[in-house]
Amino acid sequence: MEKQIVNTEDIEPPPSSDAQLKLWSEESLSDLLKSVTEKPPKPKVIQIRKTPPLPRFKIGPRTSVFRQRFFPSVSSTDWNDWQWQLRNRIKTLEALNTFVRLSEDEQKAMTYLAKQLPLSITPYYASLLDRDNPLQPLRRAVVPTTAEHFFSAGEAEDPLGEEHDSPVPGLVHRYPDRVLLLVTGFCSTYCRYCTRSRMVGDEHRTHFTREHLDKGIEYIKSNPAVRDVLISGGDPLTMPDEDLEWILSRLSRIEHVEFVRIGTKAPVVLPQRITPNLTRMLKRYHPVWMSIHFTHPDELTPEVSQACERLADAGIPLGSQTVLLAGINDQLETMKRLMHGLLKIRVKPYYLYQCDPIQGSGHFRTPVEKGLEIIKGLRGYTTGYAVPNYVIDAPGGGGKIPLMPQYMAGREKNDLLLTNYQGRPYRYPDPAGQLGCAD
Ligand code: SF4
Repeated sequence: MEKQIVNTEDIEPPPSSDAQLKLWSEESLSDLLKSVTEKPPKPKVIQIRKTPPLPRFKIGPRTSVFRQRFFPSVSSTDWNDWQWQLRNRIKTLEALNTFVRLSEDEQKAMTYLAKQLPLSITPYYASLLDRDNPLQPLRRAVVPTTAEHFFSAGEAEDPLGEEHDSPVPGLVHRYPDRVLLLVTGFCSTYCRYCTRSRMVGDEHRTHFTREHLDKGIEYIKSNPAVRDVLISGGDPLTMPDEDLEWILSRLSRIEHVEFVRIGTKAPVVLPQRITPNLTRMLKRYHPVWMSIHFTHPDELTPEVSQACERLADAGIPLGSQTVLLAGINDQLETMKRLMHGLLKIRVKPYYLYQCDPIQGSGHFRTPVEKGLEIIKGLRGYTTGYAVPNYVIDAPGGGGKIPLMPQYMAGREKNDLLLTNYQGRPYRYPDPAGQLGCAD
């Protein structure tokens, strides 16, 4: 629909006082009098197009059916309001039992050995859970089982030794040029294999105070070697825009901080969070990068696709982080579907993590050979963009160590012996220590 507006910029303003009138000549006065008795010239009219309304947030077919069944009185506006999703997240076994038929083991898990396990699932993510199958990958990722109560050798509460590398609370400085700034202990949906379960599972430890964050920001300010800040938690995108902007604006004023990264799972478990206001705000603090935690191809819904599209359109480079999990995503075909799906929504597969040995994670951890087998099945068989870096975050704080299938078979005189992705042997002329040397 077209709307007409009057462009008033070409109309002279009338003289404002008698004094001004006296300065005018007789001639100009008569012109003025003529102009007020004559019909005024028609103002210029500019045709402009009405701004199209913001697109409504899509609701996928599966989620739509779920909403009609369990939340029939909730409007799509409320459903798509991320604050509504947060307020109505599922936190108890009784509530969860409404949406899925809990197995005996799942029922026992919450109170087994009199130990309370944390639970939190957004209604949106609950809509993706299989009602009847406790082995469905997404359900296993967020619904507790009794296996979590059993600890294996080598497991620890803080396996990566983050507390040890924290010069101030909430800041981890492990690598020379970058730091991890933990800004909240809250997540909208709690993953059963969470590396930071020591702080994220605690319902009473939510967003950190500004005094607390100040200490971290002051530390960054006083360390000129820090050029990259990863903002994580918990999930930073569960914070209100204003709080997040407060952090970003403080960091943007530190000259030696070249860019920031945000680690989040919100686009996957709370895609409604990616509002036009949020992306507009993030754009003001470029370069901003984002690492998004994905687990399984079933998470690639129309909602998630739209959230990633908004972020990518705001110029934010998106990378994925995936934890390799037994019975959830440890099949080559599953991982390939996930990586291909990510590229379609403009997310570059970035890291595939060997599951950290947190307490009670034995049922999730796979042998390292499984991860190598998956990488081997991807490399060469699909585009290189779809192949993530497979890493182990070394227990005790050693940092990320890349793991690669073996493609170098050895050396024969001046030749390097190689094996390609199909297992065929090749030679590369590489006279050791001679190529490229001036002497
Ligand atoms: S999104 Fe990350 S921090 Fe939050 S519960 Fe899952 S693994 Fe933990």
